[in-house]
Amino acid sequence: MTAGGEARERPISRGQHLLSLQETDEQIALLEKEIAALASALNRDPELERLRAEERAAEAERQAAEERCRGVERELSGVRQRARSLEKRLYDGSVRNPQDLLGMQRDLTALKPRLDDLEASLLECMEASESAETTLAGANAAVAARDAERGSQETPRRERLALAQSELADQRVVRTAAAAAAGAGDVRIYERVAAHWKPAVVHLEGDSCGGCHLPLGIREANQVRSGEGLVQCSNCDRVVVR
Ligand SMILES: [Zn+2]
Repeated sequence: MTAGGEARERPISRGQHLLSLQETDEQIALLEKEIAALASALNRDPELERLRAEERAAEAERQAAEERCRGVERELSGVRQRARSLEKRLYDGSVRNPQDLLGMQRDLTALKPRLDDLEASLLECMEASESAETTLAGANAAVAARDAERGSQETPRRERLALAQSELADQRVVRTAAAAAAGAGDVRIYERVAAHWKPAVVHLEGDSCGGCHLPLGIREANQVRSGEGLVQCSNCDRVVVR
């Protein structure tokens, strides 16, 4: 009873019906996008996959470093054994020939730089192994943290997904009603325009189309204002409403 006179006099125009339909379609598109994003997030986590790949690489690096250390240790132990055996034979009196003793002394001296090299290599290798161990521990922690975070997000995500799916079902019902109110012929026009332009229904801006911004004819602009008929922009084909 207290409603404004203007609102009461004007029935909903054909353009306004299409505007409602468009708003519903926009809601549906947003919900579909959200549902796809939630489903994808529940299904897989590219960041977790990246962290797991880093973890595998760190584990491989640690194993390779350990393998290298074992190789150096084996070689070092062989050279040490050879040195010990030369020393033993040099000094235990079992070899008496001075020529042989001289040769053994030379061999022993020649082993010295080799031993030094191997000891340096082993030290280097152990440092690399320790560093690989630290990297691996960091990678393990990162995976565990991401896993825990993902676990804590799973329930809210599933709840939001269920809600969005139910909202989508509601919006589809709303759309069916909006399409029925607009009428099949106008819906076809709207869908044809929407295939090229989004939004397909735009507001009048001054005397111009709110989509392409070119002025409408005086008659069309007045038609939009009065809500009479369905007005399309002669330039871009969009439906123009007030
Ligand atoms: Zn236009």
